[in-house]
Amino acid sequence: MRLLSESRAIERLAEIRDEFRSDIRARFEHRAKPCSDCQTPGICCSDEHFVNVRVSRIEAAAIRKAVVRLADEVRSQVFDRLEKVDADAEFYSCPIYQPGTGCLIHKTAKPLPCIAHACYERKEDLPPDELLATRELEIEDLNRRVYGRSQPMTPIHAALR
Ligand code: SF4
Ligand code: SF4
Repeated sequence: MRLLSESRAIERLAEIRDEFRSDIRARFEHRAKPCSDCQTPGICCSDEHFVNVRVSRIEAAAIRKAVVRLADEVRSQVFDRLEKVDADAEFYSCPIYQPGTGCLIHKTAKPLPCIAHACYERKEDLPPDELLATRELEIEDLNRRVYGRSQPMTPIHAALR
């Protein structure tokens, strides 16, 4: 197994994310309800009974790097929201969701399940699970090459802590 530095793996992760996003946009997203028509924008990120996104160690590192680079005031708002999330919560309101702005890591470190998420009326229009699973295997390979072994997935709030 060829080892990799964390910073190189984060670069490769960005490529995987961009490829995945392009694929979702080109083949699936046009069949989903446009978020611009949403009556409850952002509820998919802020409803603590709904959000249970989990990320691997290298994704957590990319998210922390992206959050560190936010403007001081915005970053401190993220940490204010983080304080309100129960550390053991399986479902949670994502602290990275900024009301009025949206996902603060949309362009820099958005997890793949978030990229795949949209509101589809018909089940058959959804991106197939295998599309995400294949990309997650590539990310798992990055984790093994950087950290030497498979790593447990954590909720985003735990990744930020
Ligand atoms: S994904 Fe769905 S719930 Fe979330 S903002 Fe878009 S339309 Fe609204
Ligand atoms: S990472 Fe971004 S898209 Fe995903 S739940 Fe948090 S705010 Fe929403």
